[in-house]
Amino acid sequence: MSESTKKPEIDYSYRPEHDRPQKRACLNCQSKFTSEGWGNRLCTSCRSRT
Ligand SMILES: [Zn+2]
Repeated sequence: MSESTKKPEIDYSYRPEHDRPQKRACLNCQSKFTSEGWGNRLCTSCRSRT
């Protein structure tokens, strides 16, 4: 076990605006959720199901 597996704190300030956490509609169920970024288009419940 190593401490390096710990997730570093993400600094969103350098990211482009569209890649910042914001409210989005889930692509699967269309419910509003807080997206962590551009690549995150599914709500937590849909992601945990797939
Ligand atoms: Zn969903």
